[in-house]
Amino acid sequence: MGIPSQGKSREEVFAALAELKKGDVDHGSGRTWAYYYDAGKEAEAIGKEAFMQFLSCNALDPTVYPSLLKLENDLVDMGVRHLGGGDAQTGAFTSGGTESIILALKTARNHARATRPEVTAPEVIIPESAHASFYKGCHYLGLKVVQTPISMETFKADVGAIKAAITDQTIMIVSSATPYAWGVVDPIEELGQVALDHDLLLHVDGCIGGFLLQYFRRLGQDVPAFDFTVPGVTSISMDWHKYAFTPKGASVVCYRSKDLRRHQYFACSGWTGYTVVNSTIQSTRSGGPMAGAWAVLNHFGDEGYLKLAQRMLDTKNALCEGIAKIEGLRLPVIPDMCLIPFTTEGDINIWHVIDNVNAKGWYVQPQLGYREAPGCAHLSIHTNHGPFVEPFLEDLEAAVREAAEMKPTGLGAAVDDAFKSLSPEQLTPEIFARLLGMAGISGTALPDRMAEINEVMNTLSPELSERLLIEYFNALYR
Ligand SMILES: *Cc1c(COP(=O)(O)O)cnc(C)c1O
Repeated sequence: MGIPSQGKSREEVFAALAELKKGDVDHGSGRTWAYYYDAGKEAEAIGKEAFMQFLSCNALDPTVYPSLLKLENDLVDMGVRHLGGGDAQTGAFTSGGTESIILALKTARNHARATRPEVTAPEVIIPESAHASFYKGCHYLGLKVVQTPISMETFKADVGAIKAAITDQTIMIVSSATPYAWGVVDPIEELGQVALDHDLLLHVDGCIGGFLLQYFRRLGQDVPAFDFTVPGVTSISMDWHKYAFTPKGASVVCYRSKDLRRHQYFACSGWTGYTVVNSTIQSTRSGGPMAGAWAVLNHFGDEGYLKLAQRMLDTKNALCEGIAKIEGLRLPVIPDMCLIPFTTEGDINIWHVIDNVNAKGWYVQPQLGYREAPGCAHLSIHTNHGPFVEPFLEDLEAAVREAAEMKPTGLGAAVDDAFKSLSPEQLTPEIFARLLGMAGISGTALPDRMAEINEVMNTLSPELSERLLIEYFNALYR
């Protein structure tokens, strides 16, 4: 469209934005089981107001905005202490889990450069359940990924496989508390010992689980240790904008020592402009996310979060019980965290179950299979889901019955036959169009039902499906 030649009035601008929003998922309704973390209207309003008050402040230079230095120091202190640390531990406020993780990787890389000159091609050991952002970070930073399997009984990282993967080029082991997909805490005490024995860094990704699991433990659930109280843990990432319910753009990466954190920083005085020293990837940084996070954390306080945690724990337990009782469904694992994966038994197609239940006004997230791990549906529970458990379970049961009556698509086998031996480099525009066609997509418009797309994606090799996604997004975005 280009920049409009004539300016629009305030009313026209907001009317156009409101119109656009109509196509989005209704995340405030309690019928959405992903992407949105709801702790009620009051907390949302407080977070937004604080966010707006500091939106235009710039954390680029803390000497000019001492308020932002104070907010950031408070947030790091709250993060560190919540994660079992004390005065000696430290960290940095970041824009989200991905940035926290990229920074932890960058710190590990630069720490190795400074302390281990024999490392020339640094490797990071990543269990297959750890978040995609670790791959993204390694991709950006030129680090080699060494992927290890998880146990198909516990869905936790396999300590033996990690030990076997260590080489003289290994710089860091990655673990999760918890992975998004399975909601279980990796064997972090054992991994801490492995890290100490081999003098390696150990990162714990607590982006989604780190905040709330501390409360679940206090409420009596048996949660394995994962924080700075575990010897060998050197860094932890934790998102505020997930289960601390703050406005988006808020996370923290914590380190065992300032000595380690130093490797995260970047400074530049060798140019003609202002001298730069950055703690994070962003340089100009809005104060909005910090103020929003600070306000919501202060609004709830520890006691407030404990009460919210009780609600989510009760909802998780009720859902796990209810899903296990539905004929044709099973839970691969009972999660520690209020993240629930479930899948189907027998011939029932999980992607149809998801479409069928979503057609009844819910949003359930598909989670593709990988190697031995089954394709699943995923539920992220928030504080206002309690009253929705019963109606959801009823609709889910009906969705499974409907899926049981649907004919197998045969799509998986067809895709497998046609494209099994194809390498990503061979993906011509014609093959790309054919694959999209099999998935029911013409042009870039998505169909109402996603089962075919999910089945195609679930069948293709990760390399080919990554390539397909990039081609699709390259077409989707202007
Ligand atoms: C969400 C998530 C991340 C990435 O966080 P973003 O804020 O989406 O960048 C990393 N690790 C885990 C376990 C997560 O759930």
